[in-house]
Amino acid sequence: MQFDWNEEQKDIRDKYTAIGKALSASGAYTHGSFNAQGWQQLVENGLWQYIVPPEYGGNGLGWWHFTAALEGIASSIRAPGLLLSIIAQAGIVRALTLYGNETQCRRYFSAILRGELSATAIAEPTTGTDTRNIQTTLTEDKDGYVLSGEKYNIAHAPVTHFTLVVAKLTNTENQGGIALALVDRETAGVSYEAPDHKLGLTDLPTGGIRFENVRIPREKLLGRPGDGHKNLIQIISLGRIYYGLVAALIPTAFMKEALSYIRSRTSFGSTIDRHQYVQKRLVEMQIGIERGRWLAYGALSQVLNGYHAEQEMLMLSSICKLMGADDLVNSATSLLKLYGSVGYQAGAVADLVRDALGFCSVGGTEEMHRKNIFNQISRLASYQ
Ligand SMILES: Cc1cc2nc3c(=O)[nH]c(=O)nc-3n(C[C@H](O)[C@H](O)[C@H](O)COP(=O)(O)OP(=O)(O)OC[C@H]3O[C@@H](n4cnc5c(N)ncnc54)[C@H](O)[C@@H]3O)c2cc1C
Repeated sequence: MQFDWNEEQKDIRDKYTAIGKALSASGAYTHGSFNAQGWQQLVENGLWQYIVPPEYGGNGLGWWHFTAALEGIASSIRAPGLLLSIIAQAGIVRALTLYGNETQCRRYFSAILRGELSATAIAEPTTGTDTRNIQTTLTEDKDGYVLSGEKYNIAHAPVTHFTLVVAKLTNTENQGGIALALVDRETAGVSYEAPDHKLGLTDLPTGGIRFENVRIPREKLLGRPGDGHKNLIQIISLGRIYYGLVAALIPTAFMKEALSYIRSRTSFGSTIDRHQYVQKRLVEMQIGIERGRWLAYGALSQVLNGYHAEQEMLMLSSICKLMGADDLVNSATSLLKLYGSVGYQAGAVADLVRDALGFCSVGGTEEMHRKNIFNQISRLASYQ
């Protein structure tokens, strides 16, 4: 087990740190819509080439190189929406790599390399947390499947080129099982709702998608019908680890400025960095950064190296997501307090508080993750 970047990965991390800083400085994210300029920059710099398999146009460097790039951006960018876009897209790359057939890989990997956006649609208006109770159906008939239902709160829905849809099978030998279907934006019967108005993360467009008797040819199913739930766990576990990682790293970009602020602001006859309660805020932020980051790398190592037992992977990925989100919310509110009334004024710190709160539900709520952690503890105990 080795947890360090090699020279090539360090270069990649530094390159993407510079990109993250430049994007923050450009202020492109403040306009409240998808950061197309930032996205295009990532595409042109070859972000997706690390993880798209070489036979489909990637450069063969792999997930750790990609993660080094993600670390660079996450520790330098001020607007986390773009990070969530990257994680959503990485989930699709993982899904295609693990379960895609030749035609799907050819078509969608080249789309990803061109910078086309994807979405993964799991949540529904009536079943956000309770994914086993999904109401969207894939009904089998002699020509393939018919997709009907509704999804909500889906990242990229307003702008996506294609979507991985999670649905329940009916009228088949896998009755009640879950299947994953790839659905192109312009498919007949698919419609998109207006973008959601969110508290924060305004550069991550989210929204609803409706499917009304949408014809799905058999070859559009990703993986075997009925294996959808098992496969989805593999896909979303990686996403949960990455949510935890970026949540841990986001405060990094704010640390240096906070340090110089407390070194210059005075109260009770000294600069406020002399007050231990003030120091504690930055100490706690750094603890959050380090524990989230190292836990994420440990979990990632298990997943990418294939050393994990399923229960352990599920448990660790939930802990990453839960801890990262908690630490990010705490760090963001702590920063706001550190700046006193200046922190409450419109600006980067107030934006961070709004954005951080989105991490409470994106990738699953804290109750769902605690429930999952307890389930895995119970399952692991029954094997001992
Ligand atoms: C910015 C953003 C991006 C998102 N992107 C996507 C996406 O790309 N794809 C996607 O599919 N979804 C996405 N989501 C949706 C997200 O996955 C859901 O919001 C999340 O799963 C929670 O579902 P819900 O909001 O319907 O909450 P609900 O399920 O309605 O839950 C409401 C509350 O009840 C609690 N609760 C529910 N059941 C239990 C239980 N059994 N025990 C204890 N507490 C419980 C929940 O924890 C929560 O506090 C996104 C959300 C956000 C905010």
